[in-house]
Parts: sequence; structure tokens; C-alpha cells
Amino acid sequence: MRIGLLTSGGDAPGMNACIRAVVRYAIYKDIEVIGYERGYSGIINDTFKPMERRSVSDILHRGGTIIKTARCEEFMTIEGRELAANKLKKEKIDALIVIGGDGSITGANLLFIEHGIKTIGIPATIDNDLAYTDYSIGFDTAVNTVVSAINNLRDTMTSHDRVCIVEVMGRRCGDIALYSGIAGGAEAILIPEKTYSIPDICNNINNNYDRGKTSDIIVLAEGCMSAQQLSVSIKNIIPNLPIRCTVLGYLQRGGSPSFNDRSLAAQFAVRAVDLVLEGQGGRTVGISSNAIMDMEMSKALQMCKQVNEKLYSVAKILCL
Ligand code: ADP
Repeated sequence: MRIGLLTSGGDAPGMNACIRAVVRYAIYKDIEVIGYERGYSGIINDTFKPMERRSVSDILHRGGTIIKTARCEEFMTIEGRELAANKLKKEKIDALIVIGGDGSITGANLLFIEHGIKTIGIPATIDNDLAYTDYSIGFDTAVNTVVSAINNLRDTMTSHDRVCIVEVMGRRCGDIALYSGIAGGAEAILIPEKTYSIPDICNNINNNYDRGKTSDIIVLAEGCMSAQQLSVSIKNIIPNLPIRCTVLGYLQRGGSPSFNDRSLAAQFAVRAVDLVLEGQGGRTVGISSNAIMDMEMSKALQMCKQVNEKLYSVAKILCL
């Protein structure tokens, strides 16, 4: 058997751990692995290389992806996917494992539906915006990075009696903000899934001040607005507030993966290769209630991501 492997879309810490686990488990099962470079463009442009046990040495602890990642516009077209499918057939690829976010898995699903290529998806995105899985590879590490940044910011903000808005990634999903806000003890958490009131935030800042708390951390998900916009809105209500903005940006995408992400990567990889051995296609792996599972991609992609309501209510109480 011969399988293709690629990483696509935004990189996430733990992609390398997943590549290593796919390659080593597949080889253990006598499967040859071809690594395609820069996502779907690697298939279209014939940039690939055989992966050996040794070609994945010393990568487990590194962020990023050794086979690179990219956004491939050509693959978004029917013609591009047809070309990719023909190239995979020419290379006698029996199945393709795609490590990436919702866009990448959408592409893998189309390759399966339109051309019968047996694709298997592995969720990897710091945004954690795939509804069917509780966690995706990279989320845990990104949250740890944000928490560490909040710790540092709190030191300086407390010393100067300042308020800090920390803008975090996540696109339309508030998970990074919610989980890091809880873990970092933020005084306010703004996520796109929930309505928020700037006058209420200002009231809380004033109430905190009256109670002797002269410094606050507001964690803001990028899907709500920019830190600068929020700062202006708050200053319209409390003009003299010493407020600072920190946009963490791409810092959140790098770094050595956490234990959770490495462990998730290994377990997802094994399930993905087992699915290949069973002759399955058009499925994507995930974790639900602490159990590794897999699901039809079409079904998984239709699911609507829900915010963790319990965690959100706890956050609102602990913020006060
Ligand atoms: P992510 O996988 O992190 O969500 P993107 O949404 O940018 O990142 O998708 C990565 C790549 O997956 C795209 O550049 C494209 O090659 C492929 N892709 C995304 N959406 C589609 C789609 N609707 N149809 C086909 N391919 C897609």
C-alpha cells in the first residue's frame, strides 16, 4: 500500500508530531508514505518525497510542519481538483491523509466525492473551530502560549495600575479566548459567539477599581473586533483609563507542542492509518468525550460549532 500525506492551511503546533506518528505507524504496518509539500499544491506541482522512519527524526518537539503548508487556490477549482486526482492516480496513491483545518478537510471531502480518492482528515488548527471534535491539534499549545503571555502582561499591568486588552486568534471561534481567559484569570472575556456590552465592561472596570482592583486583563477574540477598536470604545466611556493593547498574533501559531497536542497527534495518526487499512475514505478523525472517534467528512463539516456554555458561565462568575 502507498499513501500520500500533506499538511494544509494554517500551521499548528503538533503537526510535526502527527507527521512523525503517521509515517512511523504506517511503516510499521508495511505502508509506504509519500509526503506532499505545501498542502494541495504539492500534488498539483509534483513536489513530493518518500518519507522514511529517519526522515521524521527530531521533529516531535518542533512547531510548524517539515513538509510545509500552504493555501492552494488552484485546488479550490473543479479543474484543480481533477488535476490533483489524476496526479494521485498516476502515482498509485491508495489513500491521502490530510492534516489541517476546516478548509483543508473540505478540500479532502471534495476529492473523495468528486473523484473517489480515499481521503482521511486529521484536524489540526489552533482555532479549534471544527464542530465535530472537542479538540484539534495545536489548540492546547496555543492556549498555553496565550496564558503565558497573560501572566507576563499581568506583572507589568498590575505594577502600573493599567488595563490591558489582549487580542487573540481564533477567527470566528472564541475558544482560544475563552480557555485562555479562564486559565489566565481574565477580568473580561469577549468572544464572537456571545453578545457583550461595552458599558457593562466599563462598569466592571469601575466596580473593580472601587473594590481596590486597579488592573484588569480583557481577553478579546479577534472575531469580535480589534483591540484598538475596543480600546477606543472603552475610552469613550472612561476617557482617563490607562489602557494598553497587546495583539499576540502569530506568536500563537508557533512553539513546541504541549503534551496534550503530542498525545492527540499520535492517537489521531494511528486512527487515520487504521482507517486507511480498513479501506475507508471520506472520513475524518477526532476526539469526543475523551474517546478517539471518526466520522464521515460530509457530516462532520455540516455540524455547527457550539460554545462550551458551562465553561462560559464559569468564566463569567470568576471574572467578577
Ligand atoms: P484551514 O485548513 O486551516 O481551514 P484554509 O481554509 O485556508 O485553511 O484551507 C486550506 C486549503 O484547503 C486551501 O488553500 C485550499 O487548497 C483547500 N480548501 C479550502 N477550502 C476549500 C474548498 N471549499 N474547496 C476545495 N479546497 C478547499
